[in-house]
Amino acid sequence: RILAPERTMMFRVVYMSDGGEPCVHTGYRIEFNSALGPYKGGLRFHPSVNLGVLKFLGFEQIFKNSLTGLNIGGAKGGANFDPKGKSDGEIMRFCQAFMLELHRLISSNTDVPAGDIGVGGREIGYMYGAYKKLTRRFDGALTGKGLSWGGSLARTEATGYGSVYFANEMLATRVDSLHGKICTISGAGNVAIYTAEKLYQMQAKPVTVSDSTGFIYDAEGIDVALLKDIKEVRRARIKEYAAKRPGAEYHEGCAGVWTVKCDIALPCATQNELSLESAKTLVKNGVKAVGEGANMPSTLDAIEYLQKNGVLFAPAKAANAGGVSVSALEMSQNSERLAWTFEEVDQRLKRIMDNIYAQSKEAAEKYGAKGNLLAGANMAGFVRVAQAMHAQGWV
Ligand code: NDP
Repeated sequence: RILAPERTMMFRVVYMSDGGEPCVHTGYRIEFNSALGPYKGGLRFHPSVNLGVLKFLGFEQIFKNSLTGLNIGGAKGGANFDPKGKSDGEIMRFCQAFMLELHRLISSNTDVPAGDIGVGGREIGYMYGAYKKLTRRFDGALTGKGLSWGGSLARTEATGYGSVYFANEMLATRVDSLHGKICTISGAGNVAIYTAEKLYQMQAKPVTVSDSTGFIYDAEGIDVALLKDIKEVRRARIKEYAAKRPGAEYHEGCAGVWTVKCDIALPCATQNELSLESAKTLVKNGVKAVGEGANMPSTLDAIEYLQKNGVLFAPAKAANAGGVSVSALEMSQNSERLAWTFEEVDQRLKRIMDNIYAQSKEAAEKYGAKGNLLAGANMAGFVRVAQAMHAQGWV
């Protein structure tokens, strides 16, 4: 019953390009499981989006959301639309066209989408504006909103910050910490940027970022302000970083990021980006821990190799649950029409991440897989959902 989505929706999305051409895309929303609460999960806009990709992401979301301990079910959605190179006007018209269909499916108590790859604050803004116009409701049916219209402080930072909190908890079991560690990060989007920012706060040094064409190696440590300016303000390619930062190197090919020697590797770009070959290189170079910021970035054989070789492994559904956790805190704030301070949200995020770590570790021990956080996270997530489904009958 858990394996079959409760509902799968596909719809046509047509918008007009700047040149006046009609552009046709496919939109999706998979409402996978509502045993624990309203469907919750991001929207991805990327040319690779199809039903298979969204089904694996939606399935991951069920146990991830369960691990947060909050009342949220699992879902995922998006469209095979490529925002890269599009004008603001085209992005706005696409988001409005997407919401023409999606608004029928969502509301604050049924299904509450958020962002994911290709969907950040700008896209959520355009979609929320269209949702309000179509439904006449201001009810927090999307999370990741702007701060003056219902967003939560620390939502932008939450996934990256949360994955770093998780990595530090994991290292503590070996009486170690992030202090002084050299870290490699892949990706240069939301998760990568705030992972780098939090690493500095924990006295670690991130030395790489990447995008789908290449990676940056900056031995002095990634300049987060410059990275934000390139990616968040100017929406440019990561190659520009090397042109602006003396000493930084740009290399073609994103997989090369795992050849850089590091203590901790943090894949924060996309699925299947860390292969067995990359895992072997990381182990040869002495990696101590791998923490997944992206969703399922490591292939199965890579995970097995890392675990067999004594590398601490933080699985995505536990390590990157900070984003959806703060999305759920945004829903709470929307319900009470109040806004909490940054510190309050960040403290709650830290508590949730510590608790996810403890649950995953304990479940692994209880069910005979001591030390395997991947198995532990799956089992702890599963138990809560399965118990709720049993209690609610065969529906
Ligand atoms: P963004 O769109 O902000 O950034 C994505 C980054 O990954 C970009 O640097 C992009 O490079 C790179 N990337 C995307 N596709 C590929 C690819 N096929 N090969 C190599 N690099 C690629 O997305 P997010 O940072 O929000 O998301 C990153 C990952 O984290 C995803 O797996 C997402 O599902 C996961 N995640 C995100 C959460 C969030 O709160 N945002 C929450 C939990 C998980 P390029 O510009 O070249 O495409």
